[in-house]
Amino acid sequence: MKIAVLSRNAKLYSTKRLIEAAEERGHEVKILDVLRCYMNITSSAPSIHYKGENIDDIDAVIPRIGASVTFYGTAVLRQFEMMGVYPLNESVAISRSRDKLRAMQLLSRKGIGMPITGFANKPDDIKDLIKMVGGSPLVIKLLQGTQGIGVVLAETQKAAESVIESFLGLNASVLVQEFIKESGGADIRCLVVGEKVVAAMKRQGAEGEFRSNLHRGGSASLIKITPEERKTAVKAANTMGLNVCGVDILRSNNGPVVMEVNSSPGLEGIENATGKDIAGMIIKFIEMNARKGRTRTKGAH
Ligand code: ADP
Ligand code: MG
Repeated sequence: MKIAVLSRNAKLYSTKRLIEAAEERGHEVKILDVLRCYMNITSSAPSIHYKGENIDDIDAVIPRIGASVTFYGTAVLRQFEMMGVYPLNESVAISRSRDKLRAMQLLSRKGIGMPITGFANKPDDIKDLIKMVGGSPLVIKLLQGTQGIGVVLAETQKAAESVIESFLGLNASVLVQEFIKESGGADIRCLVVGEKVVAAMKRQGAEGEFRSNLHRGGSASLIKITPEERKTAVKAANTMGLNVCGVDILRSNNGPVVMEVNSSPGLEGIENATGKDIAGMIIKFIEMNARKGRTRTKGAH
């Protein structure tokens, strides 16, 4: 097959591994920087050009679209879909999961466990917002944050009020969430491929840190997940309509709760922690599923 990887940087671990795994299995791989793709959106003959070349012979596309280029990246992916190219994850599923508000509303609609969560843009009554989600301690998040930046633990009512006030002063929407203390600064990353959790790792925050992000000094280790956690991760992936994703779960007193669903999960941490060939599994999934025109939008909008 001819497989295109939509990635801005061919040197990234995940991109390199996907290329390697695809070539090992006899496929031809092209790396395309989405921002350099330009498109003709004429109704009869949609096309994509790249550095003067017409890209019209791709069988499957692996989107690795960074958070900062979601808008243009999903447009390029949609164009591939219009041309009948099979996407590992569909554009609409990626958009769904990238919009945290939309994603959480969809998960809640499906009855998937999640921390009690409030959203606000310009609340006139911050005290009421805090009360609505059960009071302090609270985790407060900037909507557009990644890698743990913009995630704050407010232990007291006063701290919660002042953090929310200052975030709102930056004209940013905030997410206000019940603090799952019992998770002990750890979360579980479940890597879903198709209908299965193919690997899972526990990420533990550094000493005294409630955020488990590896970018914040967290460390990864192998973990055995429960059937309920497995079911929750697969259901979250299905709800987003993602074939491949990372589902982040906290172990709460009320069972597993989903924090986020990542449509371009990093492979380095999970391959190292589990010793599994995740890139190979992803390529095998494409071999099993890629058919021309098989880009039916899955899940709910
Ligand atoms: P980001 O998208 O920046 O990674 P997350 O929502 O994943 O933000 O939060 C970063 C980390 O903070 C999580 O991996 C988790 O360890 C911790 N965390 C986030 N929300 C909660 C919560 N409600 N209760 C306990 N810990 C949390
Ligand atoms: Mg996270």
